[in-house]
Amino acid sequence: MLAPVNKIIPFSNVDGPGNRTSIFFQGCPFNCQFCHNPETIHLCVGCGLCLDGCPVHALSRDPDGSIRWDHERCVQCDACIRTCPHTASPRVRWMTVEQVLEEVRRSAPYIAGITTSGGECTLYPDFLEALFAAVRPLGLTCLIDSNGSFDFAGRPSLLRDCAGVMLDVKAVGASWSRTLIGNDGAQVLANLDYLLSAGKLQEVRTLIFPGRDEENESAVRYVAPIIRDRCDYKIIRYRPFGVRAEYQRMLGDDVTAREEAERYAALARSLGASRAYVV
Ligand code: SF4
Ligand code: SF4
Repeated sequence: MLAPVNKIIPFSNVDGPGNRTSIFFQGCPFNCQFCHNPETIHLCVGCGLCLDGCPVHALSRDPDGSIRWDHERCVQCDACIRTCPHTASPRVRWMTVEQVLEEVRRSAPYIAGITTSGGECTLYPDFLEALFAAVRPLGLTCLIDSNGSFDFAGRPSLLRDCAGVMLDVKAVGASWSRTLIGNDGAQVLANLDYLLSAGKLQEVRTLIFPGRDEENESAVRYVAPIIRDRCDYKIIRYRPFGVRAEYQRMLGDDVTAREEAERYAALARSLGASRAYVV
């Protein structure tokens, strides 16, 4: 069994509690306007447009037409990613569970667990299930970082060896959801309820956009009374860095002011989400 891995960060302290190894899978079923890693959305289609721009010739084409990336040569200049018109990356490794596990084992003495992220890691549920079953006996916890597109209720076995899900609730309301993430967001809200009832909701994150008072407030007013004190609620300030230029035009160049985000955190706490805080 193989899955496309964009990168593995051996030590991260921003992807869940404690020091964690973060595994970023390639591919995402959403197309969020504010995505900071748009190169993780699609798989490479092998068009070859990025090959000639690599300054160290780390990219080549295999006889079967696929793109080969030489990670020893790569200097991480990102020229290929800037060139790609398909929101993809040539810097993807198709890995087995054992290969990912090998990297986790190297970090194991220094970490509390692993976090699978993306892109959207739940595109590969068989892989995750096998990985979690292998990681848990090492005494490590497994967390899923998800955009909420996956039907968790339809596959409870995915959560058997998973300590919890960090869920993005980016938008509430079909119209704003369609604008922001490209669909009506109904599955995300269904997951919010299911993960809470299953005791597997690690945290919820809501992005606060500058000047979008109505949309920001409706998300916070929806989420806070549901989660109350049962999980963390991260109120995240919008930052335009890395966002695709065409979407920056709509969302603007401004970072959400801390005071504005703090107002929504206070609102969330007043509605019962006592563990709301700004990041
Ligand atoms: S990031 Fe690596 S593969 Fe991509 S262009 Fe730069 S050196 Fe080449
Ligand atoms: S990474 Fe993008 S530009 Fe490069 S070959 Fe793949 S699809 Fe084409």
